Amino acid sequence: MFSKILIANRGEIAVRIIRACNEMGIRTVAVYSEADAQALHVNLADESYCIGGALLKDSYLNMTAIIDVAIATGCQAIHPGYGLLSENARFAELCEKCGIKFIGPSYTVISKMGDKDEARRTMRAAGVPVVPGLDEISDVAAAKAFAQKIGYPVIVKASAGGGGRGIRIVWKAEDFENAVLTASAEAQAAFGNGKVYLEKYLTDVKHVEMQIVADTFGNVVCLGERDCSMQRKNQKLIEESPCVTLKPQVREKMMQAAVTAAKTVGYTNLGTVEFLLDKENNFYFMEMNTRLQVEHPVTEYVTNIDVVKWQIRIAAGIEFIYKQEDIRLRGCAIECRINSEDARQNFRPSCGKIALLHIPGGPWVRFDTAIYQDYVIPPYYDSMIGKLIVYARERTEAIRKMQAALCELVIEGVTTNAEFSSEILAQPEFKDGTYCTNFLEKYLKERK
Ligand code: ADP
Ligand code: ADP
Ligand code: MG
Repeated sequence: MFSKILIANRGEIAVRIIRACNEMGIRTVAVYSEADAQALHVNLADESYCIGGALLKDSYLNMTAIIDVAIATGCQAIHPGYGLLSENARFAELCEKCGIKFIGPSYTVISKMGDKDEARRTMRAAGVPVVPGLDEISDVAAAKAFAQKIGYPVIVKASAGGGGRGIRIVWKAEDFENAVLTASAEAQAAFGNGKVYLEKYLTDVKHVEMQIVADTFGNVVCLGERDCSMQRKNQKLIEESPCVTLKPQVREKMMQAAVTAAKTVGYTNLGTVEFLLDKENNFYFMEMNTRLQVEHPVTEYVTNIDVVKWQIRIAAGIEFIYKQEDIRLRGCAIECRINSEDARQNFRPSCGKIALLHIPGGPWVRFDTAIYQDYVIPPYYDSMIGKLIVYARERTEAIRKMQAALCELVIEGVTTNAEFSSEILAQPEFKDGTYCTNFLEKYLKERK
């Protein structure tokens, strides 16, 4: 087992990883930007080093600065968390070349899956159903003709995309060229790669993703699904497990497809295979996230498995002790992402000082966060400041528990979406679990 790990991230996920290390008796090294001197992860780690300015490129995306710290402090491994460098194949490769274990799959697998159109090809070849589409848009006129053939709406997506960026939905032919251009420009700016591809835009579908754990002994186990259909602008807001509308036989098939996907590419460590599920129970591979997911606590509750500790153990060459038949999904878990944004002002980000903080408690209520009383939220980073997760045997009880916890949560000084999430939980479509990925857009339109 490693004796010292560097955490190449910030916010709640850095804190989550530090806690896992503490429980495992592993020493931790934090890195931080000049804007994060007062951040919680800096305080909780055994050692902390400032690696540059507030801008991501100067600090949290500064690969050589991070690896320099890892080497200088004698770390054997780097945990990248999610976002930032977690799906950066070059960073994983650089770690390996420097003799530091990257806690995640190999860089060749990251690169294979990170290119989303290549991943589509690989999955199709392995017999995993993919969304009908065109793997690459090189000739816009030809792509437009293809769109005409499969019929509108279509969705233009960045091959290197993530976090809901570099995506455009096209409803009619005259908007096609512009959508390709803007998606490509956004992708170029965000990911340094303007390559885009095309899919049929499926309406009335659920986003259902499968959690995979793969060790270095060839064991690939699926920890069940998460329903992440409650989204705004292709970004997840509320996640839950299990998915209420997923039929047992369909779950079985999707789990098998996810395991096949992982085995096909020689996957190791934790990963998520994302699918779209339609009303006729057809499912389509969308992408694979080769990292820890924001919504992992939902899976931890229903499986009773600490997936972050397993990421570390698997990276250290330890065999996963659970076989597929040992995995029992029990009860229901729900997560609400708490964002510092104003739902009444078109979700405008809200920054500032946490003037008052009260965190809800009680059995099976978990709040993953890096904020504390008097902490000043810097304007440079993600607006997600915490995740509230609850668990109960029955879904109705879990919803009630979440409502109560959201009501008890007090964050003053910045505006959060807590009240808005509570409003969503009360909607009939949420209560019966039939909501699809287009729910929020419709809801927000009608609410105005
Ligand atoms: P998940 O799939 O785990 O729900 P998201 O897609 O919401 O995760 O993204 C997780 C976090 O990582 C978010 O903070 C998002 O802004 C960020 N992120 C995702 N993909 C990228 C990327 N390619 N580059 C930079 N940040 C990213
Ligand atoms: P990202 O890498 O940004 O997470 P995804 O490919 O996972 O990108 O897509 C993000 C979200 O966009 C999905 O969760 C889904 O709601 C929506 N989406 C993506 N592709 C399609 C599609 N072909 N039809 C309908 N919705 C889609
Ligand atoms: Mg995705």
